[in-house]
Amino acid sequence: MVAESEFSLIEQYFSSLTAEREDVTLGIGDDCALLQCPQGKELAVSIDTLVEGVHFFADVDPHALGFKALAVNLSDLAAMGAAPAWFTLALTLPENNPAWLEGFSSGLATAAKASSIQLVGGDTTRGPLTISIQVHGLVDAGQAVRRDGAKPGDRIYVSGTLGDAGAALKHRLEAWSPDVLNDADWAALQQRLEYPTPRNALAEPLRHFANAAIDISDGLLADLSHILKRSDVGARLQTHDLPLSSSMKKLPKELARELALSSGDDYELCFTVPPKLADELEQQCSDITCIGEITAQSGLILVGASGQETTANIRKGYDHFSA
Ligand code: ADP
Ligand code: MG
Repeated sequence: MVAESEFSLIEQYFSSLTAEREDVTLGIGDDCALLQCPQGKELAVSIDTLVEGVHFFADVDPHALGFKALAVNLSDLAAMGAAPAWFTLALTLPENNPAWLEGFSSGLATAAKASSIQLVGGDTTRGPLTISIQVHGLVDAGQAVRRDGAKPGDRIYVSGTLGDAGAALKHRLEAWSPDVLNDADWAALQQRLEYPTPRNALAEPLRHFANAAIDISDGLLADLSHILKRSDVGARLQTHDLPLSSSMKKLPKELARELALSSGDDYELCFTVPPKLADELEQQCSDITCIGEITAQSGLILVGASGQETTANIRKGYDHFSA
């Protein structure tokens, strides 16, 4: 059935899309949602906007787009050590396209159900395709993991593997297609670009063990440098320790290393942990890798396999307003 109005569109595709939470007094349908923030918790709030042609290709699978639009926001909550609770969705659509809405809302629902977050409201307008999602998470008051807490001596960890999404993007943008990668590799890399795994399971260990954390949206060097700047410290990274997927390991070492250091869109977490807690952290968490340490001396030093050192050229993440 084609929704005839804004209201029936919301009703049809978004009203009962996600899990129902007990802390929602009133969800979609009134002028505001009413939400219960428990005593002793702080609300962690973040918003991200995806614009067609800037953040995604016009021909992207709407299911993947719905999934990723929420996943990138869930990643911000994870990076603060906050548990997902509620989100709102501002959707600007060029047309009422039922097939697109079906795919988009089902991708959104897949990401939402996996993390028990409820859609509680939003806004729907007509215009160039733009998706804004604001997430709300809960964290014990005073316990959120910020960018400014890294201390000299902290070990630097990352979750998952790095550079996969960047390789998929390079393939798409530059028709780059090295012989060493087969169809299964491309499918795996594409999956990482389109369906990033928000690391919300790491939120609790982060709160417990980490001094500082950030999610990697713009590339490891660019994002780690935010921690260094805010914490007034430096870092040494062992570049042969960067975690790579089996597909990335097939590439020439230098290229894989460059993608792992500088390409974005992986949505893994980078965090720093006092050395005395490192063993316990590693016992509790799988799929994390120690890649270096925080130094009192500012600057970012890259240490190669044979110990040679270079100062990192910190490429800034994508800046929408740079000249
Ligand atoms: P208002 O006129 O008060 O701004 P709207 O007509 O925009 O309200 O929306 C009606 C209800 O539907 C509100 O509860 C709003 O939060 C919800 N809503 C609108 N668009 C969306 C959307 N894309 N996803 C979820 N809820 C939405
Ligand atoms: Mg409105």
